Amino acid sequence: MKLTEIVRGASSIGISGHIRPDGDCTGSAMALFLYLKKICKDADIHLFLESRQDTMTDMKYLSQIDTSYEWEGSFDVFFALDTAKDRLGKAEAYFDGAKKTVNIDHHVSNQNGCAQINYVEPKASSTSELIYELIKADDNPLPLKERMDADIALAVYIGMIHDTGVFQYSNTTGRTLADAAELITYGFDFPRIIEETFYQKTYIQSQILGRALLESIQFMDGRCIVSCIDRKTMDFYGVNPADLDGIANQLRNIKGVDCAVFLYQTGLMEYKISMRSNDRVDVSRIASYFGGGGHVRAAGCTMKGTFHDCINNLSLHIEKQIGAKHD
Ligand code: 5GP
Ligand code: MN
Repeated sequence: MKLTEIVRGASSIGISGHIRPDGDCTGSAMALFLYLKKICKDADIHLFLESRQDTMTDMKYLSQIDTSYEWEGSFDVFFALDTAKDRLGKAEAYFDGAKKTVNIDHHVSNQNGCAQINYVEPKASSTSELIYELIKADDNPLPLKERMDADIALAVYIGMIHDTGVFQYSNTTGRTLADAAELITYGFDFPRIIEETFYQKTYIQSQILGRALLESIQFMDGRCIVSCIDRKTMDFYGVNPADLDGIANQLRNIKGVDCAVFLYQTGLMEYKISMRSNDRVDVSRIASYFGGGGHVRAAGCTMKGTFHDCINNLSLHIEKQIGAKHD
């Protein structure tokens, strides 16, 4: 796949990622947006993402993201990043109306891609890593030094650190680390970026994390842990879903835990589920069964019913996998 070839002759290009965008989604989409602006100077290029009170403020061009989805018309080329078409939210209409569609993703649950042109690589640490590899391998008359810059490098780096937990998770490969080593040579304050976009939490985010840990329940002899934050508690603390990022990861850090499940209420009898596992459980398989998806060690879905309905249904699947490994 060559980016320059894909966008050749296009006068309008759209880019989007999944609903509730995370660091990799925002990073990969921003990196591709900035790159295409460099190589297609005459094209009208739009980047659509849902707005989030996020910690991505270091990205200089954040204000160029269209969060209103009011643009009318159809795109010559449309890129769906870090997801299949089903989680594009309002951008799905742009995808459906585009002349040429492209899907770049690393989710194992996105099996064959959803577009005319697909690049789905589950072994990649992040969609951002795939974008950087595509930029390097692009067939463009401009030399790489002129096609890349510190802003693109920063966007890719943010995506990588978020999806790898700062190069900690098993999705980190030699290629990820080699790419990161190249990226920091473009010159940005990476220790500060890691601290501010990944580790730092607001007071409220820390309080809700504390609450989730306090009220967590262990089951299956401590091999599973679950915690749930309901609507009333979210309203009490004044938090939105983005403030709950990282809670599932913290639950997985607890010694002896094979599988961590975090739920937050999204409606009357509706919960968003985040699952994390260590080496025993394939949570992508479980999330996919319930209509969601993700990665082997981090996945999610939305479920209907009470908290107990959700956890009873999920635990049957978790138990089956943990049990199978013990036989
Ligand atoms: P998180 O638990 O942080 O929301 O998501 C973990 C991983 O699972 C991310 O890669 C995310 O994109 C994916 N994921 C979360 N929820 C869903 C969902 O409802 N459907 C799909 N396909 N993937 C999801
Ligand atoms: Mn990702």
